[in-house]
Amino acid sequence: MAAYDYTTHNYDAIVVGAGGSGLRATLGLAEQGLRTACITKVFPTRSHTVAAQGGIAASLGNMGDDNWQWHMYDTVKGSDWLGDTDAMEYLAREAPKAVYELEHYGVPFSRTEEGKIYQRPFGGHTTQFGEGPPVQRTCAAADRTGHAILHTLYGQSLKNDAEFYIEYFAIDLIMSEDGQCQGVVAWCLEDGTIHVFNAKMTVLATGGYGRAYFSATSAHTCTGDGGGMVARQGLPLQDMEFVQFHPTGIYGAGCLITEGARGEGGYLTNSEGERFMERYAPTYKDLASRDVVSRCMTMEIREGRGVGKDGDHIHLNLNHLPKEALQERLPGISESARIFAGVDVTKEPIPVLPTVHYNMGGIPTNYMGEVLNPIADDPDRVVPGLMAVGEAGCASVHGANRLGSNSLIDLVVFGRAAAIQAGKVVDRNSSNPTLNQSSVDGALARFDGLRHAKGDTSTAELRLEMQKTMQQDAAVFRADETLAEGVKKMEKVADKLDNISVTDRSMIWNSDLMETLELTNLMPNALATIVSAEARKESRGAHAQEDHPDRDDENWRKHTLAYVNGGVKLEYRPVHLNPLLGHNEGGIDLDKIKPKARVY
Ligand SMILES: Cc1cc2nc3c(=O)[nH]c(=O)nc-3n(C[C@H](O)[C@H](O)[C@H](O)COP(=O)(O)OP(=O)(O)OC[C@H]3O[C@@H](n4cnc5c(N)ncnc54)[C@H](O)[C@@H]3O)c2cc1C
Repeated sequence: MAAYDYTTHNYDAIVVGAGGSGLRATLGLAEQGLRTACITKVFPTRSHTVAAQGGIAASLGNMGDDNWQWHMYDTVKGSDWLGDTDAMEYLAREAPKAVYELEHYGVPFSRTEEGKIYQRPFGGHTTQFGEGPPVQRTCAAADRTGHAILHTLYGQSLKNDAEFYIEYFAIDLIMSEDGQCQGVVAWCLEDGTIHVFNAKMTVLATGGYGRAYFSATSAHTCTGDGGGMVARQGLPLQDMEFVQFHPTGIYGAGCLITEGARGEGGYLTNSEGERFMERYAPTYKDLASRDVVSRCMTMEIREGRGVGKDGDHIHLNLNHLPKEALQERLPGISESARIFAGVDVTKEPIPVLPTVHYNMGGIPTNYMGEVLNPIADDPDRVVPGLMAVGEAGCASVHGANRLGSNSLIDLVVFGRAAAIQAGKVVDRNSSNPTLNQSSVDGALARFDGLRHAKGDTSTAELRLEMQKTMQQDAAVFRADETLAEGVKKMEKVADKLDNISVTDRSMIWNSDLMETLELTNLMPNALATIVSAEARKESRGAHAQEDHPDRDDENWRKHTLAYVNGGVKLEYRPVHLNPLLGHNEGGIDLDKIKPKARVY
């Protein structure tokens, strides 16, 4: 191996990732006076959070009655009873506080006539524990909510003296012999230098792994790097079989048309011009939850009622809405539809198709962001020095299916929670840990091996093979046979990583090597997804299994843990059923969130 010189940096806390969750954690850590660095492979405001359009859920009740218990109920039901009760309670209860905090930090929310934060309806958000009409709970800054949040949090982090390492690629975690995280090894893309970050607390906020699939709304940078790093340390990934397909990706391009479009009154039609959602979800229609709508669209297409010359997509109609409403509330999507589908939304419907959008699964954590490494007699055992937040993590608040606008709120609530918890467990006065040199050397050896890889398959070819396999065999509809075949195919695809070819050996802006490192992260995420899906013999949330069409709470109300480190091993972990507050302390009435059939 070539010898690599490196610079060592000491911090109280480091955050890997500068999306909404990473920046909220960075800000919270820095505000408490902890020496904090944020390491990010893209410029902070280019993180995928910037693309979030629709909004952020919180029961402010600015536009009709609302309260956190209703929000919690909707989240529990949305999760198809797989979410952890304590985490879901924490999310719903802390949400209003977290949104007002964002407002005070400077997020330019859209306003009501009276000057309050504007809120729009979103799928699955209801009143009266699902018995009442839809609620307007999703706070929005036009259709650029993520953009507004990201810019505000970046400014606030700088103001609080957090340090940024921008365009630095984190390669691997540094772990002590006894399983404590000590920081990360990173590569500066711009000048090719190597950096070792020694930290008392490492927070992974690396986002999702949508790019394991062929068609995804997520940015090309969403490659599950945090999950890859964790898997290589022999730690598990949780509930990876649950992948959310957004009903309205633009046909062909994959770009997202926000659910806000249906929130503002848009609706779907099939080749007969029928508003088919009325048939499947008589109450909430086009605003039923995402997995339900995606499945219904797929069903219409499979039964021959798709639109277009191949009958392979669906129409989203907005042309009945007043022009002013489209301009004011949905300017960004009007532009996307024009650019990516050549459609004038005031005149014609947009061609859409369910597209990979969000990963419910990720690195298992408790509701304070601490990463878990379960053992039989302690399913909630914490990995010292390691946290995970945002889409990379799995707290788990989204369970088997996430509600729209519940991710942005998850980012800020748990980014904030992780910072608070780190403030409690990090000892500012202690010296930094003595690094485990063999862990640092191991990361550099892996890096060097890939840099000089001389195999037969290019990264681009292998990535495409993985993406097509996942798209074909681990998508909206799943069955015993196709999943079993998919697992076999994916094992073969993953084996080819040993025979990868990298042609550029340089250290500066070597995108070939960076994409190869990303592929080594996507692969364990993809494998965990398909193997976990094959094993789960029921249908729940986003995991719809044709051969096992019903939810089976008796046998399957449990979290999957996938260990991917040379082969995949599965274990399971119980769902947290206890809330944080008892009913008589103002907590939720447990009777209200008892499992029942999920109909909209
Ligand atoms: C098009 C689109 C629209 C959406 N709209 C909404 C919405 O309206 N409401 C809602 O609630 N949710 C929405 N979502 C979901 C939500 O936006 C995402 O789940 C969320 O933004 C993810 O944020 P994050 O902080 O976890 O990570 P990201 O924003 O994805 O950021 C990841 C960060 O990690 C860094 N990183 C990754 N790997 C490395 C590495 N190896 N080294 C260094 N840095 C690394 C990146 O540089 C980046 O800064 C949307 C998602 C998409 C794709």
